[in-house]
Amino acid sequence: MAVKVGIPRALFYFYYYPLWKSFLENLGARVVVSPPTNKRIMDAGVKKAVDEACLPVKVYYGHVLELVGSVDLLFAPRLISVEKRAYICPKFMGLPDMIRSNIDGLPPMMDTTIDVSRKSKNLHKGVQEMGRFLSKSPRKITRAWEKALEKHEVFLGLTYSGFLPHEAIEIMEGGCRKVETMGDDSLKIALLGHGYNIYDEHISMNIVRNLKNMGVRVVTPDILPPEVTEAEAAKLPKRMFWTLGKRMLGGVLHYIHDSDVDGIIYVAAFGCGPDSMIADLSERFVRRHKKIPFMLLTLDEHSGEAGVLTRLEAFVDMLTWRGVS
Ligand code: SF4
Repeated sequence: MAVKVGIPRALFYFYYYPLWKSFLENLGARVVVSPPTNKRIMDAGVKKAVDEACLPVKVYYGHVLELVGSVDLLFAPRLISVEKRAYICPKFMGLPDMIRSNIDGLPPMMDTTIDVSRKSKNLHKGVQEMGRFLSKSPRKITRAWEKALEKHEVFLGLTYSGFLPHEAIEIMEGGCRKVETMGDDSLKIALLGHGYNIYDEHISMNIVRNLKNMGVRVVTPDILPPEVTEAEAAKLPKRMFWTLGKRMLGGVLHYIHDSDVDGIIYVAAFGCGPDSMIADLSERFVRRHKKIPFMLLTLDEHSGEAGVLTRLEAFVDMLTWRGVS
């Protein structure tokens, strides 16, 4: 019988799920994903996580709890860096340890360290180490990874064509709901923030769907090819060493000069250090370079959809009013 590997539907799920799923399946595993975030999952995570954790990490706990008892292995890599000279938030480094110390009854964890900040060959090492949980053959692991990279390319291709990452995942999983909700072009809003906050419908209080229902076309830095965000981020006086922070600042600089963007919304998570800095920098860039309306939305486990919706409606009304005046 196939080994059941659980993937929590949180954090880097929104950036790498097709890659991870394909890799694990190519090695003969059966992938089990936790359900989309809901109140029960969030509440369970909030209860288990340390108080200092940011909102998406608390949600991650909830997803792990959801998988405990129903899978043979838990996929929880220790992500340090996914590109040279840039890092993932330190909270990711300690994630497997935090989970271990707070959650009982965990299955064995696939918690291989991925750190390519200095040497890209570390990725090969990490992939082999991860693959050994499911196969003894290095060649089979390499082939599984190569095939998974092809899937990742398809995923990236969809995002660069305008689908947001959660929509691209849904399309690749055979869904079509998102295709009919791409939003029209009457207003265009750039959404900034960590993808695992924006694309998780429960955390973000359905921000993408609500904006699209108002006829807004939603764009994010994740749908821009990396050469665009990298070139913009390279103009910063200091190098941004967080991978996602770099992408966001590159994105905001790009969208500032995109004459089609009517407004910018930054979605920040309560308890996120990087957000407090990147949101502030983003707002300063917007104010300095162009008078595009900017709104900061800070979300926590107590946020209510009605309150968020009211703020979105007011923002969109103001943009519409500006457009016709
Ligand atoms: S970047 Fe912010 S939201 Fe993301 S894991 Fe780190 S602290 Fe949490």
